[in-house]
Amino acid sequence: MQPKKNHYKVVILGTGPAGLTAAIYTSRAMLEPLLVEGPSPGGLLMLTTDVENYPGFRDGIMGPDLMMATKEQAERFGTEVLLATCEKVDLSQRPLRLWLDGHEVTADTLIAATGAEARWLDLESEQHYRRIGGGVSACAVCDGAFFRDVPVAVVGGGDSAMEEAHFLTKFASQVYIIHRRDTLRASRIMQERALKNPKIKFIWDTAVEEVLGDGKVVQGLRLKNLKTQEESTLEVGALFLAIGHIPNTQVFAGQLDLDPDGYIVTPKSSMSTNVPGVFAAGDVQDTDYKQAITAAASGCMAAMDAEEYLESLEA
Ligand code: NAP
Repeated sequence: MQPKKNHYKVVILGTGPAGLTAAIYTSRAMLEPLLVEGPSPGGLLMLTTDVENYPGFRDGIMGPDLMMATKEQAERFGTEVLLATCEKVDLSQRPLRLWLDGHEVTADTLIAATGAEARWLDLESEQHYRRIGGGVSACAVCDGAFFRDVPVAVVGGGDSAMEEAHFLTKFASQVYIIHRRDTLRASRIMQERALKNPKIKFIWDTAVEEVLGDGKVVQGLRLKNLKTQEESTLEVGALFLAIGHIPNTQVFAGQLDLDPDGYIVTPKSSMSTNVPGVFAAGDVQDTDYKQAITAAASGCMAAMDAEEYLESLEA
């Protein structure tokens, strides 16, 4: 696919909730945005099943259905959607320059909504049960409610692992936190909350070696104690990974200010970046919330910031 024009007032990279919402707002503002789908059209929600916490859907909605409907909503107002990957940007010049599958376009503003990928253990068995929705997930808020009255496990020792484990105690009969060391990275308050919770049990110095199951659903884990090398099995109905995220910011490296974990730095009060006319929205700049609704909200904010920036150029 090729872009229809050489120059756009707004180019949006990423079609998760942030990019799609930015497209709805900028297209309704008659800015005729180009929305670039990137290598994971629809973003992380394409990997989830029922989304029960997105406002407006009393009975929930499937992640892919939500993304398809939002994309159609953006197209309805004139968004040009391009299935292409942005392999290079030059943000040092005006207009901004982008290369999309080899095609160069220029833009007055750019909204980076390229998202973040959950980090996985990269075990073959983990990927199998993840692909088929059989009980491996990187989002307890999305999938935790499906595992009621069964034991579940969370891997990780950071704030996300503590938070996810705490959340899962609402549903699961027992939550195991499996951590590769014997000290936690999580903040003191989050640690204490987890350590005090009678439904949470810690398994220290331990790695998951294999996800066990019947091919359809998770039934347990094969674990290895990293100090004693001793192996054991643990019966659980689900495995939640909370071992960090990897923001998709490689293409901006050296041009946008990134934090030490690779997230685009935006101030609390706006979605602007260190480069005038470049805005960031969604998981690519969100180190804390990482929810579909917060991503969508930041996409709206980035769109309004971009519109204001374009108006300032015309003034
Ligand atoms: P994180 O702080 O980077 O923690 C990741 C955890 O996963 C670490 O304990 C790490 O172990 C472990 N880990 C990494 N790779 C692993 C692997 N291959 N196998 C096994 N374990 C692995 O990530 P996070 O918990 O997602 O937090 C990210 C940021 O968001 C932090 O700044 C955090 O404070 C913030 N956050 C805040 C809140 C809140 O305040 N409500 C909630 C969630 C997140 P090691 O410790 O051994 O490295």
